[in-house]
Amino acid sequence: MSENGSRKKVVILGGGVGGYISLKRLARRAAESGVGLDITLVSESPHHDFQPLYADIALNLTQPEKVRAPVKNFAKLGARVVIDRATRIDAADRRVKLEKEGELEYDYLVVSVGTRYGWDAYPGLAEAGVHNYTLEGALEMRRELARFRGGDVIVLVPEVPHRCGMYPYEVATFLAETLKSRGVKHSVTLVTPGDKPLGPLGPDISQAWAEKMEELGVEFVGLGTKTLEEVDREKRMVRAGGYEGRYDLLIKVPPSRLPSVLEASEGFVWKQDPRFAPTRGDTFRHPEYDDVFMTGEHSMPPAGLVTAGIPVHYASEVAADNLVADILGVGEVVDPCGMMPCVGYFGTSGFAGYCSSPYDESQGKRVLKCFTIARSPLVKFFKQAFYHAWIEAIKTL
Ligand SMILES: Cc1cc2nc3c(=O)[nH]c(=O)nc-3n(C[C@H](O)[C@H](O)[C@H](O)COP(=O)(O)OP(=O)(O)OC[C@H]3O[C@@H](n4cnc5c(N)ncnc54)[C@H](O)[C@@H]3O)c2cc1C
Repeated sequence: MSENGSRKKVVILGGGVGGYISLKRLARRAAESGVGLDITLVSESPHHDFQPLYADIALNLTQPEKVRAPVKNFAKLGARVVIDRATRIDAADRRVKLEKEGELEYDYLVVSVGTRYGWDAYPGLAEAGVHNYTLEGALEMRRELARFRGGDVIVLVPEVPHRCGMYPYEVATFLAETLKSRGVKHSVTLVTPGDKPLGPLGPDISQAWAEKMEELGVEFVGLGTKTLEEVDREKRMVRAGGYEGRYDLLIKVPPSRLPSVLEASEGFVWKQDPRFAPTRGDTFRHPEYDDVFMTGEHSMPPAGLVTAGIPVHYASEVAADNLVADILGVGEVVDPCGMMPCVGYFGTSGFAGYCSSPYDESQGKRVLKCFTIARSPLVKFFKQAFYHAWIEAIKTL
């Protein structure tokens, strides 16, 4: 129970990584401390998808039923679950407007609504190529890969930061190694802003990927500060920052845009970059509304973190701890280290890295320091086991 004996109303927006982890952590912390919470979780989609597995769908390594679990199962963690779309947050009045179910009032709000795919941001991008950033997209990419009989593959990153920085490198090296082992004549080119592979993760990780790409013959085209200009679907050409390349198969990554509910809400567009929503990098509180926590991918760059599920997971735990600490009146909980693993495919093997993200008060954000831990098929095994266990755990809650 909270200090006045009343239960606090918590609304969680989003039933993805951040929504699920926030709910789990809040339920645990509330039980441990005796705080009473009435939690409502709102998700537009009735499905919780473990999205990194979309890549495995596209690469024909798993099946659709293995990547998805029902959001309504979250009720077993003690939440009321509402399948509806939030259309606006009125943070000054502590209310969320829903498309069908009217309004929800809250004492605390946790926002983790992912990102919006801005396919229309560049000419030709929406119409050309394939991607595995949705389940439908992954199934289409799987069909295209099955039809592919050889030729030039371009993996295209139109701009940065984008959802899951390591993904284009994973898919480029995985494809190069698989096509080579099958004797299919091919080239794989990765076109991306930046000067070095995975530059934002630092020299150690960058070097590991540069070596892998060289070993597998994946060409890296770094656009520096430039971005995509256009994709010409008729001529099958990509034009970007002076680069022109022809493709037989185009694999594309979506530009990140702010989810529409945040765009429509006063105080939820980050002034430095309107693709993202503001947050405080230490506690993941909204900078103006201290009863709102911003833990979704949309708020990772303002916190100094990368746009991926691992930091969203971390942010959700820190936010939940701070929410309960607030009710208990024990002050803010700031984790000084912020250690996060990152795992992925490395060709057909596995890659594991580790990042620390200490909060730098002078910069008002976290500073990433990352290094390579392992390059091994065992990492791939653990990655796949962890991903599948995530979904099975929700299915059997
Ligand atoms: C192909 C691919 C590979 C990836 N690989 C990795 C990886 O290896 N490592 C890694 O760390 N990350 C990876 N990611 C990224 C990771 O999946 C995301 O960063 C993470 O899911 C973001 O969590 P989130 O809670 O912010 O958003 P999501 O998990 O996308 O969840 C958003 C939730 O919000 C709901 N929602 C959206 N708008 C509304 C609204 N208006 N009202 C109500 N509900 C709403 C949605 O229905 C959904 O439930 C990958 C992603 C993809 C697509």
